[in-house]
Amino acid sequence: MHTETYRQLDREHHLHPFTDFKALGDEGSRIVIHAEGVYIHDSEGNRILDAMAGLWCVNLGYGREELVEAATAQLRELPYYNNFFKSTHPPAVKLAEMLCRLAPAHMNRVFFTGSGSEANDTVLRMVRRYWALEGKPDKQWVIARENAYHGSTVAGMSLGGMAPMHAQGGPTVPKIAHVRQPYWFGEGKFAEGRVGEGCDISPEAFGRECAAALEAKILELGEENVAAFIAEPVQGAGGAIIPPESYWPAVKEVLARYDILLVVDEVICGFGRLGEWFGSVHYDLKPDLMPIAKGLSSGYLPIGGVLVGDRVAETLIERGGEFFHGFTYSGHPVCAAVALKNLELMQAEGIVERVRDDVGPYLAERWATLADHSLVGEVRSLGLIGALELIDPDTGERFDKARFPKGFGVGTLCRDICFDHGLVMRSVGDTMIISPPLVITRAEIDELVRLAWEALDETARRLAAREQADGPAIMIQPSIEESRS
Ligand SMILES: *Cc1c(COP(=O)(O)O)cnc(C)c1O
Repeated sequence: MHTETYRQLDREHHLHPFTDFKALGDEGSRIVIHAEGVYIHDSEGNRILDAMAGLWCVNLGYGREELVEAATAQLRELPYYNNFFKSTHPPAVKLAEMLCRLAPAHMNRVFFTGSGSEANDTVLRMVRRYWALEGKPDKQWVIARENAYHGSTVAGMSLGGMAPMHAQGGPTVPKIAHVRQPYWFGEGKFAEGRVGEGCDISPEAFGRECAAALEAKILELGEENVAAFIAEPVQGAGGAIIPPESYWPAVKEVLARYDILLVVDEVICGFGRLGEWFGSVHYDLKPDLMPIAKGLSSGYLPIGGVLVGDRVAETLIERGGEFFHGFTYSGHPVCAAVALKNLELMQAEGIVERVRDDVGPYLAERWATLADHSLVGEVRSLGLIGALELIDPDTGERFDKARFPKGFGVGTLCRDICFDHGLVMRSVGDTMIISPPLVITRAEIDELVRLAWEALDETARRLAAREQADGPAIMIQPSIEESRS
């Protein structure tokens, strides 16, 4: 079939996730047909450097024959059996053992799911169940953060702090509260309503303010009513938000004063993204629960889970009786076999150490050079996750919503230009983000940075042309990412 045929059928029959259906129908989809290493290929013959690793997941890169073989062998041996009713199978057992070996020492159990969203649904049920079994059934509130992403099921989106998601589809799950996020550039340096009013608070002071907001929320709700605090080590979908150095230590101090479970959502940060097996290790957190997915299988097959610390596991096991929860595909044998092989390859190839000691620092050095571009107000990176904050070159401030109203997304413009220049870089509002495969080489990082610079140049040119024409030269459909803010 040809590109136009695919586009036509896609337009007629396929509702895409996180997509303005009508706008996409008008524009047409990009048809991705093949991928190898860090590159995807589309149906029009373009080769594009995928600096997002699919959706933060293809950590080992595309085209790994070992993973194909692991899947094929398991499909032949046992394509499906469940883990319900006192049954299991070798891939689930082996993967559970390996995960617990890689996880912090106090985490020795895993509950499998099909995705990160299902992992967070599991988290919500587990923390409330835990406290009920502890004789504290009022401890039901979960504190999460604004602009967090924890998935798209009802529980996932309720735990998440994306206002546009909350606004669609009816009431969210009760007893979930949100506190401010440690997004210094957006809310500390340039805080809406605080600009010019001495808002230029230091990152360190801002990080402590955010931790204080968590404590204030615990006190407002009452410790006796709070079950857990959930957070990503580095917010991914919210805009690759790396918290100020002061943030996690201050949060740990707060949590130490109250008896509240800590849930660290490792769906993006887990499996080497920050240069450790888990983001919790990088920040020295001691989570009670860690939802995982994405990089667990390098995205080759869907699988997620929750790593459960001894404190929660012992209560659920010793006192819980049957836990009425699980999925048909919990610990699916083929997905588990691929995840196991993925982790074995990561270990054999020293991928995590490579991110920490080699390509992570190299990306940081090269990525930082983009700060010299007139459109860039901040660059940040940690391990293999990074962001650029786009600013208005005329004012040196964030793009003015009056001059660049909703519907004219500078980030979206830049993202589309990136695609045309052979680079997948995603936009969240006016923040450009990357999360490349962990196998990316130094030469490919050089190429990534060069393509990003070219795309920024072209974005600046297009903005200038728009100014001259004194009107919107290009109208961009806002996506969920633009409508957040
Ligand atoms: C992607 C993501 C999820 C949801 O995972 P799905 O597999 O898409 O359901 C949850 N938490 C975080 C931090 C994520 O990035």
